[in-house]
Amino acid sequence: MTDMAMLSHALTRLDEAARHIEVDPEVLEKLRHPKETLTTRLTIRMDDGSRRSFTAWRCRYDDTRGPTKGGIRFHPASTVGEVSTLAFWMTFKCAVMNLPYGGGKGAVQVDPRGLSRAELERLSRAYVQAFASMIGPDRDIPAPDVYTNSMIMGWMADEYSSMVRQPSPAVITGKPIPLGGSLGRDDATARGGFYLVKHLEGELGLDKSAKRVVVLGYGNAGVHIARLLHADGYKIIGISDSRGAIVSADGLDPDAVLDAKDAAGSVSAYAKNGKARVVAPDELLAVECDLLVPAALEDQIHIDNADSIRTRVILELANGPVTKEADSLLEAKGIVVLPDILANAGGVTVSYFEWVQNRQGYYWSLEEVHQRLKAIMEAEGRHVWNIHLEKRACMRTAAYVHALQRLSDAIAAHGTQA
Ligand code: GLU
Repeated sequence: MTDMAMLSHALTRLDEAARHIEVDPEVLEKLRHPKETLTTRLTIRMDDGSRRSFTAWRCRYDDTRGPTKGGIRFHPASTVGEVSTLAFWMTFKCAVMNLPYGGGKGAVQVDPRGLSRAELERLSRAYVQAFASMIGPDRDIPAPDVYTNSMIMGWMADEYSSMVRQPSPAVITGKPIPLGGSLGRDDATARGGFYLVKHLEGELGLDKSAKRVVVLGYGNAGVHIARLLHADGYKIIGISDSRGAIVSADGLDPDAVLDAKDAAGSVSAYAKNGKARVVAPDELLAVECDLLVPAALEDQIHIDNADSIRTRVILELANGPVTKEADSLLEAKGIVVLPDILANAGGVTVSYFEWVQNRQGYYWSLEEVHQRLKAIMEAEGRHVWNIHLEKRACMRTAAYVHALQRLSDAIAAHGTQA
């Protein structure tokens, strides 16, 4: 897909939602364009003394409902179109969850696996230097995303704090616990999805199914959802990562698979013990299961592979894992898709909790984080489910309708001069 086609594709979801409720055309026009996007080149010193530079972006898509919020990804294939699209999705995600935030996103076009730890730290600090005027605890609050983690957030928070000459933990979320991170942020994306699935288990027919799960992508979200579902009695029968895929009808132990991946670089190494079979990624998609969990990058499920999918429910822990064309095909096959802006919103919700705790200077127990996350996931999940029934719309459209209503109310409340 060409770079800008990605955003126009994403915007078709907005148009679809607008068909179900009355929305001022000016609201739709406002939501069709990012508010501001900054592109820059970050130049850093490499360990061998040479200098290299990388393209980086930060997009603040819409801040009607509050400071913009969204992660920063480090990925060699990132583009400005991808960043704007992800920022658009964040705008809707925060609105679905009723968080007092708008949407933003950032990226550096880099393969972080090719950098040393010191180079990665210099790059992270350079990012904050370059975007310091854009970010801030009341303006734009970054967080982790693909190939970024709490260590990187810690360096970024530290850099920002030295620039403003005072500790400023609320500028970024997903930090290490000693720097003001929240308990429960590490598995929050998966946990939110898990609470959603459990809450709607009966409606989705999962309670009476064989509870077979396939997880696509074995990073933070993939590993944690596999653990949570496994512990709840679901059977993980397939797992893939960017380098390979494995299946086992008897079920996989999520931690043992993670150990194999950590030791040998891919989940496929786990098959060496004879307890699983290596398959091609598209073969894994066609494995019959009850819950399919895309947990890596965008566009994993597209028109050429969607038809082979045999599942009851898809839980989108990744952002944008199903293309628009594939979406219609899945709907026609009767597969329920729990959409990204709801399904993976646990991450940004606990980011919000972290920001609140930073500002209060008062920290919550893990139980409190879990209980608050569960309450929000269930309330908003139920709301979206009811819209889905009432409007006879798929869950994705229902989630967009729910978010659009809140965005439209906020835009109207700002008055005509806004
Ligand atoms: N990167 C995550 C997302 O796409 C989390 C964003 C955040 O915590 O601000 O939702």
